[in-house]
Amino acid sequence: MTVLRLRRLTAVVATAAALGFTGSASLVHPAQSSTASAGSAACAASGSAARVRGDVTGAQEPKLYPDNEANAYGVIKDAPRLPNGSVNIRTIFHVVSDHTLSGAETARYQTLIANQMTVLNDSYSGRTAAAAADTPFRFSLAKTTYTVNKAWSTVAPGKVERDMKSALYEGDSTTLNVYAANIGGGLLGWAYFPKGYNNGRDFIDGVVILDESMPGGTAGKYAEGDTLTHEVGHWLMLEHTFKGGCSASGDFVADTPREAYAQFNCPVGADTCAAPGLDPIHNFMDYTQDSCMDMFTAGQADRMSDAWVAFRAGGQG
Ligand SMILES: [Zn+2]
Repeated sequence: MTVLRLRRLTAVVATAAALGFTGSASLVHPAQSSTASAGSAACAASGSAARVRGDVTGAQEPKLYPDNEANAYGVIKDAPRLPNGSVNIRTIFHVVSDHTLSGAETARYQTLIANQMTVLNDSYSGRTAAAAADTPFRFSLAKTTYTVNKAWSTVAPGKVERDMKSALYEGDSTTLNVYAANIGGGLLGWAYFPKGYNNGRDFIDGVVILDESMPGGTAGKYAEGDTLTHEVGHWLMLEHTFKGGCSASGDFVADTPREAYAQFNCPVGADTCAAPGLDPIHNFMDYTQDSCMDMFTAGQADRMSDAWVAFRAGGQG
């Protein structure tokens, strides 16, 4: 059985506003991007069929987002580049389910999470592609919590999210809290930029992912673990590669070629902007399927390094 679930941009913006962030406008791409892409995310979740990150079907379709980021930001202060592998991020997984897990189910989650940690570390170590950049970041699983809560098990951005996170969040600005559940809204995951961490809502920090997007899960072409890699990119201040469309500012990273709109599936050779370079469809910060995305650039690694120094390294919270 296929369940079709949609989430509209207007609802996402309203959510961001409700969370108290001032940067909800950052969700809206410039006109040339949003009108040209006009993607519709037909998000299907079932055992065999893929929940899709989205689908570009034509200008008449509403713009829908598979994930949700809040907090606008300006220029990040440039800092000396942290050495590759020098930052070990304490990672806590929170598994949320609607029933008490059996021993077999718990064991399955442990395997999914272990595989997810491997994918995350490979992705941030530059081991996933010849062109992939290494980064300062490595991730260590400190603990896994298991929570039975029917409402939280289908969490979507908003009040339920706040209820869940205020109860489960642990650590400080250097801690990566990952919530894995059968999330709602047709989303694969969402995250928040770190700027504004000390806004009185520290518990909202972290990443929420569809549990079945972990490697070996049932999310079809989104079941290789790249959703967490993508969302942690946001957690470390990366924008989507299609941010800003073909504009000069783009995603504020110089070595990611400009891209007019989000790409889905794996359109090899796509080239939507006149500026040099093919669309960065293999970049973790595009919307392509997991088998297509396999790299960060050196510029993205620099940006994440600067963001860590500017917003997270102090351990506030
Ligand atoms: Zn995203």
